[in-house]
Amino acid sequence: MLTENTLRPQERAAIATVPTGLFIAGQWRTTEATLPVVDPSTGQLLADVADAKAQDGLDALTAASDAQAGWAATPARERSDILMRAHRALLDDTERLALIMTLEMGKPLTEARGEIAYAAEFFRWFAEEAVRLDGGYMAAPAGGSRFLVTKQPVGPSLLITPWNFPMAMGTRKIGPALAAGCTCVVKPAEQTPLSMLALADILDRVGVPSGVVNVLTTSDPGALTEPMILDSRSRKLSFTGSTAVGKRLLEQCAKTVMRTSMELGGNAPFLVFDDADLDAAVEGALAAKMRNIGQACTAANRILVQRSVFDAFADKLATRLAALPMGRGTEDDVVVGPLIDAGAVAKVVDLVADAKQRGAAVRLGGEAVDGPGNFYPATVLTDVPDDADLCHTEIFGPVAALAAFDTEEEAIARANDTPYGLVSYVFTESLRRGLRVSEALDTGMVGLNQGVVSNPAAPFGGVKESGLGREGGTTGIDEFLETKYIGVKL
Ligand code: NAP
Repeated sequence: MLTENTLRPQERAAIATVPTGLFIAGQWRTTEATLPVVDPSTGQLLADVADAKAQDGLDALTAASDAQAGWAATPARERSDILMRAHRALLDDTERLALIMTLEMGKPLTEARGEIAYAAEFFRWFAEEAVRLDGGYMAAPAGGSRFLVTKQPVGPSLLITPWNFPMAMGTRKIGPALAAGCTCVVKPAEQTPLSMLALADILDRVGVPSGVVNVLTTSDPGALTEPMILDSRSRKLSFTGSTAVGKRLLEQCAKTVMRTSMELGGNAPFLVFDDADLDAAVEGALAAKMRNIGQACTAANRILVQRSVFDAFADKLATRLAALPMGRGTEDDVVVGPLIDAGAVAKVVDLVADAKQRGAAVRLGGEAVDGPGNFYPATVLTDVPDDADLCHTEIFGPVAALAAFDTEEEAIARANDTPYGLVSYVFTESLRRGLRVSEALDTGMVGLNQGVVSNPAAPFGGVKESGLGREGGTTGIDEFLETKYIGVKL
């Protein structure tokens, strides 16, 4: 339910700067129907944004398709310069953008500022990559001809992003797409469209040509995106979101054999060995668990601690978590903001109840708090059995689920016992063990003695049901490039 609008003047002013239409071919388009954007910490209405229908999607695809040849032919240095300007524009606008993000998504302002810096860095990184695309020239093994190998933009790309990192999940796709010479249609999440709309406005101002980036908000994502996916002008889908939706989109993409990148769900194990620096492990767990109020694909979902240090670790973690202030993300010092919606709170309540019923003990928190707002307190559960639902589901909340293990082999086996494989964390002071365990873990990324792995310069992505492809790093741009081989008869 929406409550009375009591936004503070600077909050209202920040929201008022965001265009609320659809951004198609460099123009803002209004729609008859709109969809509400709500502050998850109060339930207050922030704005009504345009609600795109299937035809708007096809119009955006036409714009992207019409702009494709010109953008691909734009010198890489020029594309790079535009991305560099976008990087600077985001940084210069951090306070406004962070406030908008906190209001629509709930994360504390400090984290929102961090996300703007992280998001901007994708533009700088890919501006640098844009001018370093390489190719090849070699003699055919049998002689007589030469192989020329070059890279070309894959073409108009559809980019679908989730609500938990409303800006960075967009720039992590838009940056490499533009660097590679691809145009795009971006569909942000329904609950957090304002950050992406603000970004579209910025990209327009820094000189991204009309039609190169188009942004559509909608209350009916399937109806909007399926016709675009099935349209042969779309050449690529880059999706970040849940594994369930990712699988559905992969089925659609199969019909036209469309290239895909899939950044999907996780179920990260966080392993603490008896030779770990326990204070460092606690800090790592705090980062891996509490970033984004636990609502991250990289969140530590199962914290496995060697038995001899289990109690000491649990006590230290509970003490640190108990000290974290909870409240609206705009307030000073708040670390535990609201969850995205009431459904997210209900899910955490159910998961904790199930774990308790199966024998888990509550060391901290464990009870939902009254509204307004979708708050759930920082919680520590110990002795969580492997068959608890929260060991098999993304908790997406500030609940640290701890269980003990005895041997390294057991820890690895339990860590890998999941269909997901995005990231894992290992804390040990032994280099040998650290590398041995890191190599044995079936995940695309490992945080070895660190609780955050995200970095625009590193390849981000998962294995198994956590996805396909990598974003960022030196391979991130390849997701938007085709390799072409030209055989040359001498
Ligand atoms: P989601 O429900 O899968 O939604 C992601 C995006 O897909 C949203 O824009 C959503 O639009 C759209 N969508 C939903 N149904 C669709 C359909 N039938 N056709 C086309 N688009 C559709 O995921 P979420 O709840 O927003 O995000 C949380 C999930 O994302 C978690 O599983 C998390 O682990 C994952 N995630 C992964 C990474 C990674 O890099 N691996 C990063 C961040 C998050 P609406 O908003 O309108 O529903």
